[in-house]
Amino acid sequence: MKTNKRMIALVLALSALSLTSCAAVQALARGDVGGAIIEAGKTVGEIAAAAIEDCANGKVSQEYTAEQEYYIGRGVSGAIMVRYPATEVNSDPRRRQLAYLNQMAGYIEAMSYSVDRRNLGGYVDRSEEEWERQSRFGLYKGVRVGLLESNEVMAYATPGGFIWISQGAVNMCQSEDELAAIIAHELGHIVMNHGMDAYRKATEGKITDSKAFQAFSKEMGPVVGNFAEMVGGFADNLIESGYNKDQEYEADNFGTRALAAAGYDPNAMARMLERVEAYEKSHKDDDKFLSNHPDPKSRIEKVKDLIKNPKNNLKAPAGDPGRTTREKRFREVWGR
Ligand SMILES: [Zn+2]
Repeated sequence: MKTNKRMIALVLALSALSLTSCAAVQALARGDVGGAIIEAGKTVGEIAAAAIEDCANGKVSQEYTAEQEYYIGRGVSGAIMVRYPATEVNSDPRRRQLAYLNQMAGYIEAMSYSVDRRNLGGYVDRSEEEWERQSRFGLYKGVRVGLLESNEVMAYATPGGFIWISQGAVNMCQSEDELAAIIAHELGHIVMNHGMDAYRKATEGKITDSKAFQAFSKEMGPVVGNFAEMVGGFADNLIESGYNKDQEYEADNFGTRALAAAGYDPNAMARMLERVEAYEKSHKDDDKFLSNHPDPKSRIEKVKDLIKNPKNNLKAPAGDPGRTTREKRFREVWGR
């Protein structure tokens, strides 16, 4: 019963997104660099209708499907873009930058299937049932990366495969491998399902008990109001606080292994985190996100230990024959 209530809340509000947050959906469509975002209202409406039918027929399980997670991620992406505008894709160099980011992310994601997800250091507690689910995890439409205009150093991962990287974070990186490290880390949050963990916690027991929800639901109907609040709350939480420390360690661990699996230098994860650390030192006072985020020092140490352990076999490729190509490509694409 609880599941059905929650599911109905979810699917109705997914359709509500196109009714209530036009700005968010438009921003999302504009920022969808993969070009695969399809007539939001229609598609979301169809999925909502199908899911409601499933609820009525008792077919809905406890688990969100990859498709549902994708639409949740789109909603959250819309909310992120309301706060931080996506970079306009209005020139060939811009298009090339976005293609570059998306090709890199798609490649790392494909290669990361060889990373043993059960062997990531055990930072996040999971039941056997959750591990089972984790081992079957796949993305509905792959991973896609968008750029945010901001010069602050930021990167976000939403459920369902969306990664948002700020211009500031790109500028911070001094090589393709460091930029790949940001993508691999964010991919870790997605693959290890950290967003949905938070989302499940955030939506539990919130059907009727909030004042904001009650006010909104007078106008829009209860389930619609509930979803708008859920996605908005989730996005706020992601923007203000990020993921928790254990989730950060797990994403670093997965990301370092994914980097090595894709032929990048795994040490780039530590180098990237050292740049974040330096940036934080000079910006802590005026950056709300950073002041809520875990200290990179312990993360850097864990990544270095991980690479040092010969059991993990995380060496930079011998002689690294691709390095020159990567360096040249990075400089060309970003005009450095
Ligand atoms: Zn993270």
